[in-house]
Amino acid sequence: MAANSKIEWTECTWNPVTGCTKISPGCLNCYAERMARRLRAMGQPNYRNGFRLTVHPHMLELPLHWRQPRSIFVNSMSDLFHKDVPLEFIRQVFDMMRRAPQHRFQILTKRSERLKELSPRLAWPDNVWMGVTVENSDHTFRIEHLRQTSAARECNESCRSRQTCPHAGGETPRDRRSRDAQRVQLPRGKGSPPAARRRSDSR
Ligand code: SF4
Repeated sequence: MAANSKIEWTECTWNPVTGCTKISPGCLNCYAERMARRLRAMGQPNYRNGFRLTVHPHMLELPLHWRQPRSIFVNSMSDLFHKDVPLEFIRQVFDMMRRAPQHRFQILTKRSERLKELSPRLAWPDNVWMGVTVENSDHTFRIEHLRQTSAARECNESCRSRQTCPHAGGETPRDRRSRDAQRVQLPRGKGSPPAARRRSDSR
């Protein structure tokens, strides 16, 4: 499913993978899990497996049909670096993003170990922004993993921005402020889109 998004830092979502499993405290009130169950109950074919991890090859080429440039959150309903997403499929997602340079693709993961492991085996296009979720001080290691990837190599302090993660739900505003203060995304490529610059400026 692709949809316009209410998330403030993106414009729409693209889900070539759906479903996930919980990996850390930030997953406790997973929004994607609740949504997947709701969408299955509504009869959405991509959610026939509910929240069980499922790859959707038929969704791969969707961004090619969007002519107008968009900020696209990749896998708002999953985690692209989940252990059950085959490397070959991740490569296809990256190839798709390369073939749609008019868009900015935003990826967030909690599986920073696998991100780091697979990073050298992926071709990173300039229009991919890679981020990690760090819900508390026990998980700051994800930032270091991100820094060690090809996605982070071209980044510097001026292009770093913080992002919120829609996967996590059920937090108080205080929880969310605390979490957001520790969430880091390292945009890759030349120039920051206006929305990203605004966020960086407000820090
Ligand atoms: S989608 Fe995100 S928050 Fe939900 S279980 Fe997966 S990693 Fe955790």
